[in-house]
Amino acid sequence: MLQKFERYPLTFGPTPIEKLERLGKHLGGKVEIYAKREDCNSGLAFGGNKLRKLEYIIPDAIATKADTLVSIGGVQSNHTRMVAAVAAKIGMKCVLVQESWVPHEDAVYDRVGNILLSRIMGADVRFVDEGFDIGIRRSWEQALEEVKSTGGIPYAIPAGASVHKYGGLGYVGFAEEVRAQEELFGFAFDYIIVCTVTGSTHAGMLVGFAKDGRQRSVIGIDASATPAQTKAQVLSIARHTAELVNLGSEIVEYDVVLLDEYAYPCYGVPSDETKEAIRLCARLEGMITDPVYEGKSMQGLIDLVRKDFFSEGSRILYAHLGGVPAINGYSYTFRNG
Ligand SMILES: *Cc1c(COP(=O)(O)O)cnc(C)c1O
Repeated sequence: MLQKFERYPLTFGPTPIEKLERLGKHLGGKVEIYAKREDCNSGLAFGGNKLRKLEYIIPDAIATKADTLVSIGGVQSNHTRMVAAVAAKIGMKCVLVQESWVPHEDAVYDRVGNILLSRIMGADVRFVDEGFDIGIRRSWEQALEEVKSTGGIPYAIPAGASVHKYGGLGYVGFAEEVRAQEELFGFAFDYIIVCTVTGSTHAGMLVGFAKDGRQRSVIGIDASATPAQTKAQVLSIARHTAELVNLGSEIVEYDVVLLDEYAYPCYGVPSDETKEAIRLCARLEGMITDPVYEGKSMQGLIDLVRKDFFSEGSRILYAHLGGVPAINGYSYTFRNG
């Protein structure tokens, strides 16, 4: 579906799929749980889902003769860390607007994890006192203007690399990759679990899996706590991406399955249930998930299995999208394990 698009390789290639045998047994053994390890997809600063998207965005950045990547996220944004890594790798400068998206207090929150890595990679990191919003932000537009006024050529990458003309393509590729892996396994997954915030990961999957009519098998677990806005953004990115790749059918609102009961209390703050999910998965599988994103989709997966949401014998693919560096900002939360 992506042959006509230029791709700048930033990942190792297809990501492995592994069975979470002990987690599946612990939850009653009625379903089979697998993880696709997008968290291990690259040697660039710990990798993660944003790299798959950036592979289709970077050729455009290079074509515009830009010299500075400008992006935005929260203080512990995985996305801005990935943009810093890509800028270093391709020899561009990097300006990152880091907003106060998370009402979380940890003594070293703004010094460890993602932001620490972005600083080491040479990004110009700027703090802005604005709250959570997945849309286009003024502070980001100002940073773009500033780069121009000092003679630079900025290239704008929105939050999560989502609301960008090519933002949805990377996860169309994910669906194609899963289809190829399913051929080798000799079975197809019944459900795909994905954490959703800025929307293009989920949107790309919808378009990719719509090719064989499986778009409603993609179960989005909202971690934004602004699910109406997130759902609308998923739908709009999916529609745009479907046109780009000439899908031949339209993505409709009914196709966007987004469960909103796991994002509480708010974006970036884990509930007791999220923390329990992180511990359970870590202790049964040695697989680490973070308190902002993957811990919430893991919590959703565990709860849905316990509630018999999936019929017996289902094979469920949990997309592990990365994000582990942020856990360093939650040292107090996990001070006793
Ligand atoms: C960005 C991110 C997500 C959410 O992906 P979107 O495309 O923004 O919806 C999920 N998990 C991790 C680890 C992320 O960094």
